[in-house]
Amino acid sequence: MVYKTNIRAPRGSELSCKGWTQEAAMRMLMNNLDPEVAENPDELVVYGGIGKAARDWESYEKLIATLKELENDETMIVQSGKPVAVFRTHENAPRVLIANSNLVPGWANWDHFYELEERNLMMYGQMTAGSWIYIGAQGILQGTYLSFVEAGKKKFGTADLRGKWILTGGMGGMSGAQPLAGKMAGAVILVVEVDRARIERKINEGYCDYLVETVDEAIELVNKLTAAKEPASIGLVGNCADINRELLNRGMIPDFVTDQTSAHDPINGYIPNGMTLEEALQLRKTDVKTYERRAKETMAEHVRTMLEFQQAGAETFDYGNNIRAYAKEMGVENAFDFPGFVPAYIRPLFCEGKGPFRWAALSGDPEDIYKTDALAKEMFAEDTALVNWIDMAQKMVKWQGLPARICWLGYGDRHRFALRVNEMVANGELKAPIVFGRDHLDSGSVASPNRETEGMQDGSDAVSDWPLLNALVNTAGGASWVSIHHGGGVGMGYSQHAGQVLVADGTKLAAEKINRVLISDPGMGVVRHADAGYDIAVRTAKEKGINMPMLKG
Ligand code: NAD
Repeated sequence: MVYKTNIRAPRGSELSCKGWTQEAAMRMLMNNLDPEVAENPDELVVYGGIGKAARDWESYEKLIATLKELENDETMIVQSGKPVAVFRTHENAPRVLIANSNLVPGWANWDHFYELEERNLMMYGQMTAGSWIYIGAQGILQGTYLSFVEAGKKKFGTADLRGKWILTGGMGGMSGAQPLAGKMAGAVILVVEVDRARIERKINEGYCDYLVETVDEAIELVNKLTAAKEPASIGLVGNCADINRELLNRGMIPDFVTDQTSAHDPINGYIPNGMTLEEALQLRKTDVKTYERRAKETMAEHVRTMLEFQQAGAETFDYGNNIRAYAKEMGVENAFDFPGFVPAYIRPLFCEGKGPFRWAALSGDPEDIYKTDALAKEMFAEDTALVNWIDMAQKMVKWQGLPARICWLGYGDRHRFALRVNEMVANGELKAPIVFGRDHLDSGSVASPNRETEGMQDGSDAVSDWPLLNALVNTAGGASWVSIHHGGGVGMGYSQHAGQVLVADGTKLAAEKINRVLISDPGMGVVRHADAGYDIAVRTAKEKGINMPMLKG
């Protein structure tokens, strides 16, 4: 059934369900499908290829109707986007339990998934699409910003990148967050992009400041802006492999080098050098084999330039696009000499239980978010990167759907913050309850050996007991809704992950749940990394008094 939609979650403090938890689940499901938020709401697709919020329109209608009827001691069971049952549970239990896209390991591949999807037995839930806590582009922007900040701390011992410059590639869907994120971190960022129209688009969206056509212009601007310590973003039209080589020849060594071109796909993504964009697109149609080979050869040269920048002193890292693997396939034996961004910068944050924590205002009023921003800045004033992020986000992030904020808080901070917000709901400072949630790409909730758990110190990359235990403990603690998914981010067979969302409605019961769930959830991140032997996690567990019966060291 094709169903043209214009869904918008209700705003304000009037309930259409029997409690705020059910109301929150209903509003966040609708919010995921708001045309301002979702990529393709007519197909129920929220983001990430085919990541959906509900299995089909009939299921969507039933989800909404069931949430409206759901009592405060009942739980709705959702199997791959379809409500299949309601059971009596109790007030402290989650109101919704969700399992999306899970397949028995021996069957866990796209072919089998598509067979089932074809028969309408399953849907792909991605991470936050099927668990109703996606908040639009803000998420990728902050993650990218944080990666730059952490790279800065590692290289220069400071989160303030003024006077430093970053060289990277790609200004597309996700990679288009780079110019703004680099500028937010205070740096001058030069983004090489082969498609002029992509740069123009980012300039129109306010994500990029300058467009230049030649390496001469780029060098002049980079030198001028870094000397003035002026944060700025520059898009340079060109192919990364060629431009990087020219910069090397001219002795222009950046402080940071990375790349986010679509190198994960050598046929429909990455553009080979030695030809114009139009010629490349033509070759892709007429001789796909040659195209693929040329694209991989270009990736090899691209990685060689990155290795040379690294040798010359630039902090160099892979940004999750698999470019090292293709370069290695093409004979660059030392392609993996520079690390991926998770082991390099993000894992230490995971060790402290930090990850993409977020909240949304059910009132729909941006003022509610501004008040929580002010609280976060007051409570975590010593965290420069966090304060800087909130200031910049207020200026630069456009609201999409219900006003929301992403902010990487860790173990110990999430529950303290949420308790204060719960009080603000109780005393009427905020107009309606706040929903707290997170991406599944969190510190203790995902097993994904090619990304989030790449190269774990103890070799436990593929152990997915952890995300399953995460979901179980959050259910036991009484999260508002809990989800277990498979295949998010990297596809079928490659990941398992879990989500939880918790509603702060100003009640004592909400405070009790916050005190359980927002401790156990990031706590599982600390525990997972301490168990793997990471020093920071062991220290965090000990300092914060997490009870780990077999913790050594
Ligand atoms: P996209 O296809 O929308 O954008 C990629 C851009 O790269 C395009 O604009 C394209 O014109 C440009 N490009 C391709 N080859 C080029 C070349 N040789 N030189 C210069 N420009 C070139 O893709 P996207 O959504 O921006 O994602 C980009 C990559 O980043 C993907 O591989 C994705 O998997 C990865 N990614 C990683 C993370 C992460 O974990 N950090 C997050 C998001 C995306």
